[in-house]
Amino acid sequence: MPPRPRPSAPADLDAQLDPGVREKIHLEILRRTGAYRTGDHFLLPSGHHAPEFIDKALVTTEPSFTEGLGDVIAKHFAPWPADVILSTGPGALILAHCVARALPSRPILVYATKGVTEQGRQVRLPDEFTRFVRKGSKVLIVEDLITTGETIRLLMRMVSEGGGTVVGIGCLWQRATKIDLGKEVFSLVKRDFPTYAPGACPLCARGVPLNAEFARAEPPVEDPLESPRPRRRST
Ligand SMILES: [Zn+2]
Repeated sequence: MPPRPRPSAPADLDAQLDPGVREKIHLEILRRTGAYRTGDHFLLPSGHHAPEFIDKALVTTEPSFTEGLGDVIAKHFAPWPADVILSTGPGALILAHCVARALPSRPILVYATKGVTEQGRQVRLPDEFTRFVRKGSKVLIVEDLITTGETIRLLMRMVSEGGGTVVGIGCLWQRATKIDLGKEVFSLVKRDFPTYAPGACPLCARGVPLNAEFARAEPPVEDPLESPRPRRRST
């Protein structure tokens, strides 16, 4: 098979595009990975139904795509030099690597682990990384999908408690477009789509067959970076 060209506009060109056009290009890239699907009647892992589906596990499966998208995020944040890129979760870490590699400030890359304790959901840096997030550190947080923003809030608090500053938040896809993190999020796609309880689904009402391919009868593979947690999709 001949090598495929990097399927993203060069970051320089990308930055000049109209935001609507830019988002369409990024959506198309995610569609080509199989992560973004439309025009169907999906049974979601939550049990709800939706006409669109974004599979978090698939968004970073094509390295050349991820590199192209990472370049765009890096280009956006180049004016605010970071010395640390912080991420959590396997998909986000793959994207974060691509962003870190493309940034002219040559930041180091660290990840936090996620878990649930008696105090609720938490993030923590492995001991080896704690010295990197300290007083004066300029930290760029990189996520793949932002759904509720809860993980981002925890990461921001962790940076601030270590004495560092969050210089930006970048992600591939922001689901909940109205969340307020107290800081602008640079997202390649900002798109929410409706989900319906089975009893109130207009696609069911029209008799459209339900696609259960992505509902996963088996429990999802546990995130190796996370300790056991309740089964629910979030970022
Ligand atoms: Zn339905």
